[in-house]
Order: sequence, then structure tokens, then C-alpha cells
Amino acid sequence: MRQLEEKILKDGKVLEGGILKVDNFLNHQVDVAFLKKLAQEVYDHYKDAGVTKILTVEASGIPLATLVADIFSVNLLIAKKHKSLNISNNVYFSKVFSFTHKQENIIMVSKEYLHSGERVLIVDDFLANGNAGLGLVDIVRQAGAVPVGISCAIEKSFQSGHDLLVKEGIDVFSLARIKSMSENSLEFVK
Ligand code: 5GP
Repeated sequence: MRQLEEKILKDGKVLEGGILKVDNFLNHQVDVAFLKKLAQEVYDHYKDAGVTKILTVEASGIPLATLVADIFSVNLLIAKKHKSLNISNNVYFSKVFSFTHKQENIIMVSKEYLHSGERVLIVDDFLANGNAGLGLVDIVRQAGAVPVGISCAIEKSFQSGHDLLVKEGIDVFSLARIKSMSENSLEFVK
């Protein structure tokens, strides 16, 4: 998405450790009007997929996922993060290594809110190595629901997440795909 690429070039800062900071519009301060445009692109891609629920993981994917859920007129389900396993058997859970915090978390959703046969679209702000995405797909499948796709605002295509998710049979739709980035340059996949 051209507008998102331009915004990343204008406002993004590449930090050490391969982190792109775009927190003036995507996940700290939120440019709601702009994110509505991203959400519309996600909707246009999946509008015929029979989506019944949007799933994200706390916290930084919540703004975009909320706006996507609003356009689909379906509920948003937010997987909760915990540092350790201290869980009732009333939840689906998966282990996820956090790219930004370099630690393993347990992510979980209540069995009450995810059911067999549901068609779930996963939405997040970033796709890097795919750990969050794979964990969410795992949870959807434990419930007997169908992961219809995973949509991220920004995919760092030089990391392994896209290919891992495609290998899992997941439709991956990212609005901006970064081919390479460093402090002084940032290139998108053509
Ligand atoms: P993955 O699980 O695909 O390795 O990483 C995805 C998660 O890590 C996203 O939920 C996102 O919050 C965070 N993340 C990964 N890369 C970046 C990045 O370059 N910048 C920011 N701000 N978050 C990132």
C-alpha cells in the first residue's frame, strides 16, 4: 500500500536489533484516520472469506485489529500474554517467543470466546519471524476454528515469518513489505 510505504519512509526510524519504530502513528500514538484506511484495505482483501472473528495478541496490534473488526461487524478477540503457565483448563494457549522483548510468553484465549467452525482473521501490526502469528494459528486450530488469513500492517520480509506462515497453509496479506532496512536506507518489496 503506497500511502503506508510513504508514511514509513517519512516517520519510521530503524533502531538497533532490526526494530522499526513507527509509534507516532501505528501503535503508541495512533493516527486513527490513517489506520481506518489500512483497515479498509484488509477488509477489501478478505471481504468474501466469511470472516466471523478478528484475533490479535495484546498489545500493539489492537488499534488496527479493532478498526478491522468494526468494518467486518464482528467481534475482536485479544489473546492475553502471560510470562508463565498458570492457567485453568478453560483456555487455549500457545508459547510464543517475543521478537521485541526477547522472552517467551504464553498467549491465551478463553474457550468461551473461540468456537469450532469459526472463520478467524488474525491481525497484527508487524510480521517478523512469525512467532506471534504461528502461536495465534495454533490457538485457532486447537479450537477447531479456521484461520482464514493473517494480515499485518508491516511485514519485514527479510525475516522468516511470511514463508513459515505460508508453509502452514495460511494466506498472508501485509500492507507494506520491507525488503531491507538499515539506519540510512529502507527498501520495499516491489
Ligand atoms: P514475530 O512474532 O513475527 O517475530 O514478531 C511480531 C511481533 O513483534 C509483533 O506483534 C510486533 O509487536 C513485534 N515486532 C516485530 N518486529 C517489530 C518491529 O520492527 N517494530 C515493532 N515496533 N514491533 C515489532
